[in-house]
Amino acid sequence: YKRIVLNSRPLADIEPTTFRTETLPLDLKPGAREVLVQVTWLSLDPAMRGYIRDVRSYLPPVQIGETMRAQGLGVVVQAGTDSALTVGQLVSGPFGWTEFAVMKDKNVEKITVPEGVQALDFLNTLGSSGLTAYFGLRDVCDLKRGDKLLVSGAAGSVGSVVCQLGKRAGATVYAIAGSPDKCAWLEKELGVDKAFNYKSPTFRQDFKEAGFIDVYFDNVGGDILDMVLTRLNKGARIALCGAISQYNATKPKGLQNYLTLISMRAKLQGFIILDYTSEFPAAIEEMARGLADGSIKRKFHIVEGLEQAPVALPMLFSGGNTGKLVVKVSEE
Ligand code: NDP
Repeated sequence: YKRIVLNSRPLADIEPTTFRTETLPLDLKPGAREVLVQVTWLSLDPAMRGYIRDVRSYLPPVQIGETMRAQGLGVVVQAGTDSALTVGQLVSGPFGWTEFAVMKDKNVEKITVPEGVQALDFLNTLGSSGLTAYFGLRDVCDLKRGDKLLVSGAAGSVGSVVCQLGKRAGATVYAIAGSPDKCAWLEKELGVDKAFNYKSPTFRQDFKEAGFIDVYFDNVGGDILDMVLTRLNKGARIALCGAISQYNATKPKGLQNYLTLISMRAKLQGFIILDYTSEFPAAIEEMARGLADGSIKRKFHIVEGLEQAPVALPMLFSGGNTGKLVVKVSEE
């Protein structure tokens, strides 16, 4: 079977030598309270750039020679002694970039796919992306009906859910994304009030149309965050969800306009979705209802084959994906 390991730490952008594929004999045996999982799908996430950086963070860095960390879906193909799982069970877990993984029972989640929803949604709207949108908006943004909500990285996996939940909560939603096609999808399919293309030469001028903002759900950081700091309403809230524009930087950019946080009595707060796991089931149930009745829409960008993971991951940094970027590893 194949697995992909970290080969070297990139200084800036991910390089062809960053990862290495290994082929190993399929002699994996689950021990007590363990299972052997055949991986079907893997999620590609901007956070992976952080996992391969040798710095203190909310998870330890992936070491050189270790299987690259990744969340995925899979099927139990063998159960060890005393395992609570049975062969054929659909599961999610941090399998990593591999075709097969031995996992402890306690490190996988059984998945039951609700009516009107597909298994793959558990890597997107019903997985960490959708839940990040849900809890970020609920706990960090303090969004109220009538607020002006701005979302960056809006056509991505997290951003597209934030936009839709924002509309559902009665906000006026402004979106920032990197192409005319993405902006059209956001306005026509997801119902955002206005989407702005930050790669347009007239972006800064165009953006003034949004007026002043009550809530900013920030996925990108950098220059866009700095610009938004000059466009805050009094009492504005900024949820620092991510800063993808800075993940490949050797030295992340400082903010020039942060003093407006004082004059506008604004709040800027980071958060990590892992702190909300106890509340996941209820949120998943609510979002699954939205998917099933069509009120929450989603798009997948599917890449075929585990060996494509290292070339697909940089797509997140060039904006090649609309919606959730996933790798299909084997048939469900
Ligand atoms: P996306 O599906 O949004 O993919 C990333 C997108 O970011 C790209 O499609 C691209 O779209 C945009 N982008 C890339 N580079 C830049 C740049 N320099 N400036 C502006 N936009 C850029 O990824 P996710 O939805 O998985 O993640 C979105 C954010 O949420 C990330 O920052 C991630 O780290 C964060 N996150 C945080 C979590 C938490 O617990 N706090 C949990 C999960 C995710 P475009 O074409 O528009 O440029």
